[in-house]
Amino acid sequence: MAIKNVVIIGGGISGLTTAYELTRRGHHVTVLDRRETLGGLARSVQIGDRDIERYYHFICGGDQNLIELIAELGLSARLHWRPGKTSYFVQGRMYPFTTPLDLLGFSAISLLSRIRFALHAARCRQMRNWQDIEHLTAQEWLLDTVGSEAYEVIWRPLLQIKFGRYYDQVSAPWLWHRVHRFSQSRHSLWRPEQLGYLEGGSQVLIDALAEFIVAGGGKIQGR
Ligand SMILES: Cc1cc2nc3c(=O)[nH]c(=O)nc-3n(C[C@H](O)[C@H](O)[C@H](O)COP(=O)(O)OP(=O)(O)OC[C@H]3O[C@@H](n4cnc5c(N)ncnc54)[C@H](O)[C@@H]3O)c2cc1C
Repeated sequence: MAIKNVVIIGGGISGLTTAYELTRRGHHVTVLDRRETLGGLARSVQIGDRDIERYYHFICGGDQNLIELIAELGLSARLHWRPGKTSYFVQGRMYPFTTPLDLLGFSAISLLSRIRFALHAARCRQMRNWQDIEHLTAQEWLLDTVGSEAYEVIWRPLLQIKFGRYYDQVSAPWLWHRVHRFSQSRHSLWRPEQLGYLEGGSQVLIDALAEFIVAGGGKIQGR
């Protein structure tokens, strides 16, 4: 196999894992990033004497490649699994939203809408053929499956928070994958999902990848 010199633009998790795989195969990599700090969206910010994740990140039970990568880098002991806890804040009231029983008591929407919401979540869990919904936006798919009440109260605010003014252009497969991935962290329908967190945050993974790349002869801008 011919050894190649590869320049990777972007030192987020995609760029660093690509550089990691190439380094493992013996290629010479150079990672360039326009920021001084590596990690992209998964980077940390320093507050006082602590590094805090800029955005929250959790790992799901089905994120097999990521879990394997963490093991390869010798970080498994720093990966902790904790029961997730979700709540919805609607019209001045906080509703627990972790288990099916919580959903049953979610009186911000009608019982029929709660049932439609639950059926949609169960369908996402089972479904594999996302190609069938590729022609739909998440909004179109949700209005058709959960109905307008559950969409307006639960889904639309979440999509708006994440995507801003583009919220109605997000594809249905994105939403399916989001729910499907999350459901992989639930051992049974009645128990809360188990979510993984790296002690020290995603920065620990970013730093370990960077160290491996540099130790393998690669260059990272500024190092
Ligand atoms: C609030 C929030 C929560 C999230 N939670 C999760 C989660 O729990 N689990 C999960 O899996 N994902 C989560 N994500 C998504 C995850 O953060 C991203 O999918 C992932 O970090 C993207 O990595 P990336 O390397 O593809 O892109 P980025 O992280 O965007 O990295 C791109 C890098 O390229 C650099 N760059 C861009 N243009 C140039 C240029 N012209 N020249 C040089 N450098 C350049 C940037 O500075 C950046 O460092 C979350 C995202 C957010 C915002």
